[in-house]
Amino acid sequence: MSNTRAACVIGWPAKQSRSPKLHGYWIKRHGIDGDYRIEERSPEEFPAFVTNLAGNGYVGANITMPHKDAALALSEPDARARSVGAANTLWLDNGRLRSTNTDVEGFIGALDAAAPGWHERTESAVVLGAGGASRAVVYGFIERGVKTVHVVNRTFEKAVALRERFGPSVQPAHWSDLPRLLDGAKLLANATSLGMTGQGDLAIDLGAVADDCVVADAIYVPLKTPLLAAAEKRGLKTSNGLDMLLHQAVRGFELWFNVRPQVTRELYNLLATDITRT
Ligand code: NAP
Repeated sequence: MSNTRAACVIGWPAKQSRSPKLHGYWIKRHGIDGDYRIEERSPEEFPAFVTNLAGNGYVGANITMPHKDAALALSEPDARARSVGAANTLWLDNGRLRSTNTDVEGFIGALDAAAPGWHERTESAVVLGAGGASRAVVYGFIERGVKTVHVVNRTFEKAVALRERFGPSVQPAHWSDLPRLLDGAKLLANATSLGMTGQGDLAIDLGAVADDCVVADAIYVPLKTPLLAAAEKRGLKTSNGLDMLLHQAVRGFELWFNVRPQVTRELYNLLATDITRT
């Protein structure tokens, strides 16, 4: 019988996923007898598949659209997954199907790499968007001690829902509040889909933000969104969605293969080449 440990990404669709390239790089680099595959499963197929992960040959999985809510409901979530309200990483722990949300450490890990010590000089942040990515970003900011997180969203009620979820540190806001909120801002995160190839533009004036403002974007297609291009032009530190994607993958790999891998420049370039080519 094979001793190969295998993990997978489960989504519908999933064949566009870059996770096999990413985890495959670490498997090879660490000489692990392991595999990482794509499993496309419909919402109807997902519950039976995921609750029999071991029977299907897997020690764990990444979960992508549209299964993150179902994965949370079908597993034992940790505090992060429960608070964020979505599970993107599953692992088997003595037969128990457990889950977490690694987008939190993905986003925060990318920021730490781009601007070490950012949280020591940042009392408040501006977050654009109030969907799944935003919930992970807001949770991560509050966990790191950011006192006030202004959540700006097109649908105001969703920003209000984040205050109900995370408490009074969250200040819901309208797009029309942005000029006021960006005046002197030290931390700005885009967690909307605006700026992504094929989506709408994110036109934001960074003229009034602080000179040491850090700007992060969850989007990785393109690698340099217009927001990040404007931030670089202004001389600000930035992190992009690929940095986030790579950092969020570390914990899953460690849980499945018992090795904590590094996010290296070589790995970044490998994925960046793939993204740019397609
Ligand atoms: P989501 O739950 O669907 O949320 C989308 C957000 O974008 C909502 O706040 C939505 O506002 C806003 N939005 C969409 N179109 C808009 C428009 N035309 N004008 C203003 N606001 C608009 O999506 P998500 O899962 O949070 O993902 C958001 C982005 O993060 C995506 O680009 C995704 O690829 C990226 N992401 C990256 C990573 C990574 O590892 N790098 C991980 C997760 C997500 P409304 O509430 O008003 O609709």
